[in-house]
Amino acid sequence: MNNPSYRGRFAPSPTGPLHFGSLVTALASFLEARSQGGRWFIRIEDLDPLREPPEATGQILASLDAHGLFPDEPVRFQSRRHDAYQDAIDRLLESGHAYRCQCSRKELQANEGRHPNQCRSRTALDGDSPYAIRFALEDENCHWQDLLLGPQRQVVKAELDDPVLLRKEGFYAYQLAVVVDDIDQGITDVVRGSDLLDMTAQQQQIYRALGAHPPRWLHIPVILNEQGQKLSKQTHAPALNDETPVDNLFRALVALGQNPPADLATGSLESLLEWGWKNWQRGAIHLTSR
Ligand code: GLU
Repeated sequence: MNNPSYRGRFAPSPTGPLHFGSLVTALASFLEARSQGGRWFIRIEDLDPLREPPEATGQILASLDAHGLFPDEPVRFQSRRHDAYQDAIDRLLESGHAYRCQCSRKELQANEGRHPNQCRSRTALDGDSPYAIRFALEDENCHWQDLLLGPQRQVVKAELDDPVLLRKEGFYAYQLAVVVDDIDQGITDVVRGSDLLDMTAQQQQIYRALGAHPPRWLHIPVILNEQGQKLSKQTHAPALNDETPVDNLFRALVALGQNPPADLATGSLESLLEWGWKNWQRGAIHLTSR
């Protein structure tokens, strides 16, 4: 299949080095793109310097390189995109899709998520205490189709679920930046971990508020450790060993339900990746570990 209009990406937040679970996600998005003759990009979502050790971005890029996962365009860094995010926020405020919120988390919790200050409709701020900017969701019973998981239904609750776009500390938030960049990069297909599934309905509203069409989504099962926890920095997932890329990728293919011939485990990186995209079976991805 040759579909040059397909544009996919892998978009890690650099909170630590790549681990096996993130390799599985990266590989799935790469193989989906390659198997369709599409283009594939890497975007570093470095929005929160307080959660990102300075060496993590370099480690992630070196790992992707060592595993032969080369992007079709230079890597994009969200830390260099603040003007675009501010511009989007200005548009959303202007069109009434966003509002300033000075509530503390405590106040919101105490009030079951309702803003005590009625932030959505307030025109003036209370003194100069810091404020976040939130997206004003609409009540919605959202139905959409996941390319792997099938029909999805999510209930979106106005006010109660409103995501933060700009944090009080001055950092742009994931929910905003991911949508702004996916629109700007013309991403047609998002392949990512199913831990982000619940965000999808909200993100669709942000796409629409910015006048764009949402992409297609494919959420892959999150890889669990032996204790049944998601592999992540919080569960102390070990960093990938970049010295053994063929072995790592072979295991990642198996984790994705693919069935690579055993001799590829001792072959070259290139032949393994080529087998991967030529034989990619999206439908073989196991759904059990969701
Ligand atoms: N940066 C997000 C993460 O590492 C993924 C963004 C996405 O694929 O939508 O969890």
